[in-house]
Amino acid sequence: MRYAKSVGEQVRRLIADSGADPARILGAGISLPGILSADGSLFNTDVLPAKNYRTATIGRALDLPYLCVNDANAAGFAEMWGSDSGRNFVYLSLSNTVGGAIVLSGHVSAGDTRRAGEFGHISLDRNGPLCYCGQKGCLYTYCNAANLSKRAGGELSEFFRLLAAGDAAMRKVWDRYLDKLAQAVNILRMAFDCEVVVGGYVGAYMEPHIDALRARAAALNSFEADGGYIRICRRRTEASAAGAALLHIDAFIKTI
Ligand SMILES: [Zn+2]
Repeated sequence: MRYAKSVGEQVRRLIADSGADPARILGAGISLPGILSADGSLFNTDVLPAKNYRTATIGRALDLPYLCVNDANAAGFAEMWGSDSGRNFVYLSLSNTVGGAIVLSGHVSAGDTRRAGEFGHISLDRNGPLCYCGQKGCLYTYCNAANLSKRAGGELSEFFRLLAAGDAAMRKVWDRYLDKLAQAVNILRMAFDCEVVVGGYVGAYMEPHIDALRARAAALNSFEADGGYIRICRRRTEASAAGAALLHIDAFIKTI
């Protein structure tokens, strides 16, 4: 309750500071790092102390029309919005959590149990590091962004700065990261046979490394010569926040 009240206060302050006319605000989009129930009313996650959290609690504190959406699904929607509506792709979000979205023919697929795109828990090595989900060797344990930032004082930008400067220790960490990422990307390509978009915090720094990732992924795949199906996300920062907001705009446009 205190959390929801604080969110409400911050949103009101943001609106006041922006000078926007409150009457013209379509609503608030809330991106959440976890699984939402089919009607969006309950939120569960392993990364926050929230079990069966009622999203209406936040809605009441906002005093605005609101919607809640899974963070990686929101980022996938942002990636899709404004582009070819018939496009198929999977979006892999590499932030401090690892997730994704499956976008087929212009729609983000939720799956039968609302867990479509939980790529962070694809098992890459049953004897690997323990994941917060309880399993071992999940993609999350290898490719969450904090694995990189913690090597550089908690700053991802510093990690990539040191890497670009030729730091041998960072290079070793990055090579291991790319190997696991290539493994995951290849699994997604095999499963969905469409573009794989690399996004999230790490996606924003991927430009100089995309060829290395493509080469590693291609080496794992007998059908693909060059890994050209791997792309970097169009929206480099705050994609999930943008996606949550764009859902309101998209709904509004459909009413015109
Ligand atoms: Zn896991």
